[in-house]
Amino acid sequence: MPEIYNFSAGPAVLPAAVLEQARDELLDWHGSGMSVMEMSHRSKEYLSIAEQAEADLRELLSIPANYRVLFLQGGATSQFSMVPMNLLRGKQQADYVNTGAWSKKAIAEARRYCDVSVVASSEDSNFTSIPAFDSWQRNTDAAYLHYTPNETIGGVEFHWVPESGDVPLVVDMSSTILSRPLDVSRFGVIYAGAQKNIGPAGLTVVIVREDLPGETLAGTPSMFDYRLHADNGSMLNTPPTFGWYLAGLVFKWLKEKGGLAAMATINQRKSERLYDAIAQSDFYTSPVDADCRSWMNVPFTLADAALDGEFLSLAKSAGLLNLKGHRSVGGMRASIYNAMPEAGVAALIDFMVEFERSRG
Ligand SMILES: *Cc1c(COP(=O)(O)O)cnc(C)c1O
Repeated sequence: MPEIYNFSAGPAVLPAAVLEQARDELLDWHGSGMSVMEMSHRSKEYLSIAEQAEADLRELLSIPANYRVLFLQGGATSQFSMVPMNLLRGKQQADYVNTGAWSKKAIAEARRYCDVSVVASSEDSNFTSIPAFDSWQRNTDAAYLHYTPNETIGGVEFHWVPESGDVPLVVDMSSTILSRPLDVSRFGVIYAGAQKNIGPAGLTVVIVREDLPGETLAGTPSMFDYRLHADNGSMLNTPPTFGWYLAGLVFKWLKEKGGLAAMATINQRKSERLYDAIAQSDFYTSPVDADCRSWMNVPFTLADAALDGEFLSLAKSAGLLNLKGHRSVGGMRASIYNAMPEAGVAALIDFMVEFERSRG
């Protein structure tokens, strides 16, 4: 059996050390006689797990004291509604940037609640680029400016943060949070579904500047109210306890690896190796502009799409799983989140070179 490397876009690979620890603690957490899954979320044991996870995330991202961290359910998709419900605050209009499939979904959902101005779009380039900031038609009176720092499907990533003045920046960081250090103070709301770079599906992390929520849209359900979640320590109802615990193990693992600056060095190196291998070949192509290629999701196409099936089946035999690209892009996509070891990227590159040599 070859070593298995899982390139799934999400739910995605988790650090092996984290899974081993969860296994060791599964039946009896720290001598409590219980699995974390069996604990009351209000028990002393569970509260210590929850608080430690938040403290470690705050340390990793240097989250300022005036930001609240929420551990919610509902996925990033629920945030597409929660953001307008909580951030319109009496305004009727919000700015959105459209750089791909996830931007489009956020925009479609926001349109149920307000006038959405799409201030910039790369749809004309089939979402392979990011519109230059000086071309954005921003509204200085918008309730907020929303964008998607990493488009998981298209493999397009912002390597810069827009300057939005007094308009709060709101970001869907599902597939890039924790991949590098972040200046949280630049943002009004940061949200991320856990299943890419944080932990298992079912947990959603929201980091919100504490002065922003409080005035929700009429009819907003309690479960969609940031203020209520913040005031109740994310325990307005039963939180996703096991996902929160596992995220905490991932945060500890990241700290042991040297934190986000160390992760950034590794992530940049992993992605550059893969992009370099693609660039050096006449057989593989990256569809994305060089200045916005993602560190996390690397789409690439083969010179002959008729070979896609064979590429995927041979890759699978070599232990390289889930490389099929999204149907809207075609070709391949290698998702190389924090938990993908450098050896996994090296194995993929070796496989690609050999495939090109024998079939290309
Ligand atoms: C995966 C993903 C989503 C959807 O997340 P859910 O947790 O399934 O709602 C939204 N945005 C981005 C950028 C994603 O990668």
